[in-house]
Amino acid sequence: MNIKVALAGNPNSGKTTLFNALTGSNQFVGNWPGVTVEKKEGKVKKNPDITVVDLPGIYSLSPYTLEEVVARKYLVEEKPDAILNLVDGTNLERNLYLTTQLTELGIPVVIAINMMDVVRKSGDKIDIEKLSIHMGCPIVEISALKETGLDEAVEQVKRVAAKGRKIPQHNFSGEVEHALAHIEEAVVHELPDEEQRWYAVKLFERDGRVIEKLSLNSDIISHIEKDIIHVEEEYDDDSESIIINERYNYIARCLADCYKKKNKNGLTPSDKIDRVLTNRFLALPIFAVVIFFIYYISVSTVGTWMTDFMNDGVFGEGFTLFGKDFLGIPVIIEQLLVRLNCAPWLRSLILDGIVGGVGSVLGFVPQIFVLFFFLAFLEGCGYMSRIAFVLDKLFRKFGLSGKSFIPMLVGTGCSVPGIMASRTIESDRDRKMAVITTSFIPCSAKIPVIGLIAGALFGKAAWVAPSAYFIGITAVMVSGLMLKKTAAFSGAEAPFVMELPPYHLPPMRNVLRSMWERGWSFVKKAGTVILLSMVILWFLQSFGFENGRLVMTEDINKSVLSFIGNLFAWMFRPLGFGNWQSVVATLTGLIAKENVVSTFGVLLGNSEVSEAGNEIWQAMRGIFTPVSGYSFLVFNLLCAPCVAAMGAIRREMNSLKWSAFAIIYQCVFAYAVSLMVYQFGSLFTGNADIIGVIAAAAVLGYMLFLLVRPAKTKK
Ligand code: GDP
Ligand code: MG
Repeated sequence: MNIKVALAGNPNSGKTTLFNALTGSNQFVGNWPGVTVEKKEGKVKKNPDITVVDLPGIYSLSPYTLEEVVARKYLVEEKPDAILNLVDGTNLERNLYLTTQLTELGIPVVIAINMMDVVRKSGDKIDIEKLSIHMGCPIVEISALKETGLDEAVEQVKRVAAKGRKIPQHNFSGEVEHALAHIEEAVVHELPDEEQRWYAVKLFERDGRVIEKLSLNSDIISHIEKDIIHVEEEYDDDSESIIINERYNYIARCLADCYKKKNKNGLTPSDKIDRVLTNRFLALPIFAVVIFFIYYISVSTVGTWMTDFMNDGVFGEGFTLFGKDFLGIPVIIEQLLVRLNCAPWLRSLILDGIVGGVGSVLGFVPQIFVLFFFLAFLEGCGYMSRIAFVLDKLFRKFGLSGKSFIPMLVGTGCSVPGIMASRTIESDRDRKMAVITTSFIPCSAKIPVIGLIAGALFGKAAWVAPSAYFIGITAVMVSGLMLKKTAAFSGAEAPFVMELPPYHLPPMRNVLRSMWERGWSFVKKAGTVILLSMVILWFLQSFGFENGRLVMTEDINKSVLSFIGNLFAWMFRPLGFGNWQSVVATLTGLIAKENVVSTFGVLLGNSEVSEAGNEIWQAMRGIFTPVSGYSFLVFNLLCAPCVAAMGAIRREMNSLKWSAFAIIYQCVFAYAVSLMVYQFGSLFTGNADIIGVIAAAAVLGYMLFLLVRPAKTKK
């Protein structure tokens, strides 16, 4: 018999750990259809008949967060054969809240009380038999981490799945039960017996989605409304809160009966560590040190060393390993192409376009793996939740989650892993916000651009570089504040209820697996995006119109690329840089931000961009004033990131609509800020254009309005 079992539980209850332990490598990772929430499915190693589906971590089956909607939709519509409800044994009360809802669905439930290793160590006692009677379903004690009790859990799942659906036990107080019975009677009596309870409760809560799904007519609605209002008056509360209270009362009664805490006020080792690590004064400094360390290792030392090795060695001239000399991949391919007598244009396409472009992206792979190794470790040992917790209060003020700090931080190295690091944010809304704003933080590839502008137009002034970071951070905060007020980002704020799991050394294989999953998808997908765009860029750069015919050209001024540059130049005139070279530099910057500098190098007549050879700086002064140069810098810092990062956005959003929104938003935002920089800036240099200044003032006014207007809410 094939059994489909859904793994449901709170975030941090150990679902992923259990899932990995049960399925081993026998798993499939993707996204839930149409949404970005991670979906994992796999067959149980020892029992290939059983398929496990890892639902998103949720605290409730209400319809307020995307995670809840996804989990609920799956349970109600796909009707798995059984639910394995993972309950964190160190936090029974909050975890059982979800349990009371799962058992209402009519789907057979097995409760697995997890973290039993910790519970046993603390000396707390749970009377499993009694609790099982209260909850109306079998309970097993497990430790997903130590892999104990897993076989029994699987056996129980098989047993309940074989028995089939069951009618939930009723358990709320008199009035509520009375109203529920009425609703069942009036509306849902035609549904299968075991499903009636769920629908009745949801109707009692006036759950919009259920009302819609059952397509009730207004007569019936007003009929049950009477029952609901009656109870609401009785309890002097709204129906949704009444149900919440009922559930907690029920849990409290159960726990009073079958749960004994050993020492109520005793401090666990984790509590003691937390006294230091999440201390009001020490938390941030300690955090800064930890982050500096990780950043230093993965981006500055080991990562850079390996990335340089990849870029200059494996994808460059060649390298020496263990005393032996190896040729770089491009060299090998070039030799091969020469031997094959390959046409020059094809050789150029393969070498300059494909190998060069894809190679430069693959060069990031070591950095990404090192970084994800550390992130997985921090996540696994429990520190990440603390970081998020410490920062959350501050970040919330700007509409960001505490967890979005990690993507931003990683983004200072490269936006691609930065955007990918947003995966660790479970709430969909917060993750989207992080994906949209992460690339505002200047990545390392933007540093040469900053250097060029600072050098050529500001006499290497020391304030230029810090100002770029300041602009990036401000852009994140301003965007957070503005977007927070839009309907798409509004709605019930996901409360920051987060388990702070006890500290422990995460098993190395979990850390490595997490690193591998994230890293490999980078290799696979970013590689394909880059490949395509490189081919396109190569064609645009290599072909041009001569005498009305499209021919291959050596002269970049005649290339299609310069044609395109001129085509768009007018758009940037209000920003102060309406020359085709800047436009092409911006466009090639979309391939990789490093291109901005090298493009100027090529276009301004000196292919070697050396700091000593001030020739390019001289030429830059020919097409930029300091104000327009700074405006150009700001635009390139804030506008859409490079294609690799756009690919990452596309992947993390998993929605064309949202990816387009993110990229368009970034461009529009960049345009608005650059416009203000140039127009207001030119007021000071005395060559202001009155229409431009008025336009910039209008933009400023509109942005201020977006910042202070009242928040929109979803219907
Ligand atoms: P999820 O959010 O439900 O997927 O939870 P995870 O599987 O990521 O687990 C959260 C944390 O709890 C991780 O640090 C796990 O290593 C840890 N954990 C999971 N199961 C156990 C367990 O049985 N005992 C202990 N001590 N820790 C566990
Ligand atoms: Mg998980």
